[in-house]
Amino acid sequence: MPSLNSGKVLVTGANGYIAVWIVKTMLEAGFSVRGTVRSASKADHLRNLFKSFGDKFEVVVVPDITNAESFTEYVKDVDAIAHTASPFHMNAIEPDELIIPAVEGTLSVLKAAEAHGPSVKRVIVLSSTAAVLGPYSGTPLDESHWNQDSIDEVKAKGRDAANHMKYRASKTLAERAAWEWYEERKSKLGWDLVALNPPFVFGPFLHEVASPEQLNTSAHDWYFNIVKGKLSPDGYVNGGACWVDVRDIATAHALALKTEAAAGRFIVAAGAFKWQDFATPAHAIDAKVPEGNPSAYDPSTVQHGVVYNSTKSKSVLGLKYHTVEETTKDTLQDFEIRGWL
Ligand code: NDP
Repeated sequence: MPSLNSGKVLVTGANGYIAVWIVKTMLEAGFSVRGTVRSASKADHLRNLFKSFGDKFEVVVVPDITNAESFTEYVKDVDAIAHTASPFHMNAIEPDELIIPAVEGTLSVLKAAEAHGPSVKRVIVLSSTAAVLGPYSGTPLDESHWNQDSIDEVKAKGRDAANHMKYRASKTLAERAAWEWYEERKSKLGWDLVALNPPFVFGPFLHEVASPEQLNTSAHDWYFNIVKGKLSPDGYVNGGACWVDVRDIATAHALALKTEAAAGRFIVAAGAFKWQDFATPAHAIDAKVPEGNPSAYDPSTVQHGVVYNSTKSKSVLGLKYHTVEETTKDTLQDFEIRGWL
């Protein structure tokens, strides 16, 4: 795809934590944005948030993303699509509660772009490192890795599979379905496909949230672990994963349109962390925030359960990452303004 620096972008699930930052970043980068939400009540906050962009921002209601026809009218005049709508929670009983909207929602967007989107040049699917995660033996996982374990567990155990495995399976099956669908048709399509694979996304938020309990899954974990100190002493030093700032995954979306050479999957990860890595700067910034368990933590000897290689995002997209300290400071400032500290 030639570099795309202007035009209209369709962002699905535009009211979500990450998506609102994507909308903001796209608007600031000079694109127009059409966001989709599931119900009209979710549109008001967005209209208000982006009113300074005038008619460069609009919201439409798509009640059912699994129905490709829902998108027919909304892909006709767009230059690119960022598909983010997908359930991210750990409360599903049946795996299909997550898998069906994840897979069918993704395929709906691709089918609509094929059938009704003559001006579409690139489709970005917001996947996850959940679709990459596999056995880790010390060499950082890269874009060639796929998560098979979660799919196998869900197949074997169904509703008795661990909840995080149901979510990871949904993201893996959705991204895999997207690539299989695309590979079969790419010679006939006027657009190409990019997948962005972030780990846990942290940082300030712009979406509508009435109370900390209603935060999206990743920001909820950060708030209750760091600000409210819900972790055990051991959880601070041994609990963790990999992370990226929400503004960086949003920027990655804009760069994926602006960068001619962007193609395929991109791991978008700042690094691995233990919760103590956030607790230490958070406590230094605001003494109300618990200090965690710093005396038991030595960052120089820490072992991580998995590390991702994000070289491609830096070398091809030119992405630069926020640091733990920057993200911590800006997130606390956000909570302070809301009176949540
Ligand atoms: P949010 O929960 O804030 O946003 C999810 C969005 O998807 C909302 O717009 C939501 O709509 C929509 N959605 C959820 N379920 C459905 C459904 N069944 N049908 C249609 N729309 C649905 O989550 P995030 O912003 O954190 O996540 C957005 C995307 O990023 C997801 O695909 C997630 O898997 C992925 N991701 C997130 C990470 C993170 O740490 N946050 C890490 C890696 C990937 P509604 O508000 O109406 O429910």
